[in-house]
Amino acid sequence: MRRKCAIVAGGAGFVGSHLCRRLLDEGYEVDCIDSLLTGRRDNIDSLDTRGPFRFHHEDVARPIRFDHNADAVFHLASPASPADYLRHPLETLTAGSAGTANTLELAREKGARYILASTSEVYGNPQVHPQPETYWGNVNPVGPRSAYDEAKRFAEALVTAHRATHGTSTAIARVFNTYGPRMRRTDGRAVPAFITQALDGRPLTVTGTGSQTRSLRYVDDLVEGLLALHTSTVPGPLNLGNPEEITVLELARQILRATGSGSPTVFVNRPQDDPDRRCPDITRAREELGWAPKTGLREGLDRTIAWYRAHRRTFSHDAPAWT
Ligand code: NAD
Repeated sequence: MRRKCAIVAGGAGFVGSHLCRRLLDEGYEVDCIDSLLTGRRDNIDSLDTRGPFRFHHEDVARPIRFDHNADAVFHLASPASPADYLRHPLETLTAGSAGTANTLELAREKGARYILASTSEVYGNPQVHPQPETYWGNVNPVGPRSAYDEAKRFAEALVTAHRATHGTSTAIARVFNTYGPRMRRTDGRAVPAFITQALDGRPLTVTGTGSQTRSLRYVDDLVEGLLALHTSTVPGPLNLGNPEEITVLELARQILRATGSGSPTVFVNRPQDDPDRRCPDITRAREELGWAPKTGLREGLDRTIAWYRAHRRTFSHDAPAWT
């Protein structure tokens, strides 16, 4: 019997490397396509010992030639942290536009199921709480975050049009804040920033008053949701996130407790267009996929902190905290 094959665009990144690992453990052959714009070779170095794994150092914004079969195409290739997409706005827009068009074309050619990793950022700074998939969002189209938000909104429109035009089996996952091992400490997101600051004994840089909320979900739960979406016929969009909200200040406090650090907390300027609240309504994911996150925040933080402790020496210094 032929093994199932999955293509993971963006597979050398934080989420992608966890997804590649899980697919190999499920018996898939995995082809990872990544330009290494924000990903790392280290993330995927040992994966070929777990199963048939091939790395293709390519930019998905360029046409992709690919000889193998594929049953699934996961499109995760895009800068994802605000620090990264502010540094690479044009690459972010082409990853969402040309990158989505090329990966969709690949799925059509191979007759594969297509999964787009979209984002909660399509809701912008939401006026509706929690956010259901039927909410259209509140996005500034020319603000600093617009390259990312609009790239993902365009990508969702492209997936929808491709499905309607070519009948490709597609799914849109709206991914909410995710954390876990292998986030770069320099990527600027709150969890890696706070953990590395706490472990280094430096002040934790909370933006604004820290009263803005996020809903954090451990990476293994997201991977579970992406796999459930792949094996279903559900088109989405589906929110994949944790409906438990936490303020950024409370997150800093929990990380101080979990690391046992005596670092102080300092308050720094909040970035423009930073959302006040973020909380998914996951009714659809529960009903259509039977999916909900399982890992509690303390358990997820403990696992993540253990990884950062073990890999402290392999990472350079971090950037200011964005959320
Ligand atoms: P990441 O930056 O760690 O990974 C993205 C990967 O895509 C990197 O390996 C990067 O090198 C690669 N990439 C970027 N542009 C590319 C291109 N043009 N061609 C090929 N490879 C390219 O980010 P992540 O946190 O792992 O996010 C993965 C996906 O999930 C992204 O699409 C992101 O928008 C989405 N997402 C993530 C989160 C989160 O909290 N991590 C939240 C919402 C959505």
